[in-house]
Amino acid sequence: MDQPDIRAIQDALNHLPIQCRYHGVKTDPSSPRREACCDTGIPARRRQLAQEALDRQRR
Ligand SMILES: [Zn+2]
Repeated sequence: MDQPDIRAIQDALNHLPIQCRYHGVKTDPSSPRREACCDTGIPARRRQLAQEALDRQRR
């Protein structure tokens, strides 16, 4: 990916909450049928997964 593309995605990610208000950075799904620890944690969970994917692109 081009550097400006990565920066644009990073900027967007930075607008998502970095942690769940109730569970902090531990946003792993509490059960396989859930996306995150709780509904409030979904944006933080998505940010973490997207950040990991982005970091893999940077290598
Ligand atoms: Zn939560």
